[in-house]
Amino acid sequence: MGLLEGRRAIVTGGASGIGAATARRFAAEGARVAVFDIDAAGADAVAAEIGGLGFGVNVAKSEAVQAAVAAAAEGLGGLDVLFNNAGVGNLKPLDAYTDKEWERLIGVNLTGTFNGLRAALPIMQAGGGGAIVNMASVSGIRPTRGESPYAAAKAGVIALTQSAALEYGPTIRVNCVSPGFIHTALTDFAVTTDAYRQPIEAETPLGRVGTGDDVAKVVVFLASDLAGYVSGQNIVVDGGSMLPSAQIDHMLRDLLG
Ligand code: NAD
Repeated sequence: MGLLEGRRAIVTGGASGIGAATARRFAAEGARVAVFDIDAAGADAVAAEIGGLGFGVNVAKSEAVQAAVAAAAEGLGGLDVLFNNAGVGNLKPLDAYTDKEWERLIGVNLTGTFNGLRAALPIMQAGGGGAIVNMASVSGIRPTRGESPYAAAKAGVIALTQSAALEYGPTIRVNCVSPGFIHTALTDFAVTTDAYRQPIEAETPLGRVGTGDDVAKVVVFLASDLAGYVSGQNIVVDGGSMLPSAQIDHMLRDLLG
């Protein structure tokens, strides 16, 4: 018996990376999954692989999300789990971001999460309850240079998660995950460059870059009854990489080996 046996789930951004890994894990644990992605062919491909439903949806568009969530709930026969995962990133100095780029990064990462919550919560409430996991990031807790709109959006996702958890308990649990550096399409340029990857591995207590499946397993936990008394939390999945102090770590390595 799987951890999500009989559950009906939506995964946004499910065509690749962490979303695709989670859609596969959800299905392996017994859930029926609707895969949402702006890449409709990619969503269909993952859905076909796991016996689910594929939807071409831009999460930044509220009406499209409302319609797709309603159609998915109808197609699945209800809705128990939502993983609001779709996201996009960019790197450049704050003053180089255009209005359009700011709006895109906030629109997909933050408004997209809000759109998913707003569409799914009433359906879950009417069905007696459910569990929602939102995709934040360590960038929302400890931003790095060059990602100001992304970091602001992810910090917003953490606050949105806490607000929703307060308002929709006890029937609906709402949590988020904050991955560190995970090998997906978003980070492939860095993972495949030795000079970038090796210091990341050296600074990570668990000694490697994360995989989509590392995050998917935590999302399964949060979506399942194993996390039945967990709500409003942000679970960091970063191999311990937030722990080393960037300021003095090189000195400590020198002193302690
Ligand atoms: P990815 O690029 O492999 O997957 C993102 C998916 O979202 C893609 O399939 C893409 O088509 C889809 N998408 C993009 N814009 C969309 C939109 N407007 N509507 C619907 N779908 C859209 O990247 P990933 O690393 O798997 O990213 C998934 C999530 O994880 C993102 O929210 C990202 O910010 C977050 N995250 C990633 C990392 C990392 O290191 N990879 C770290 C922390 C957080």
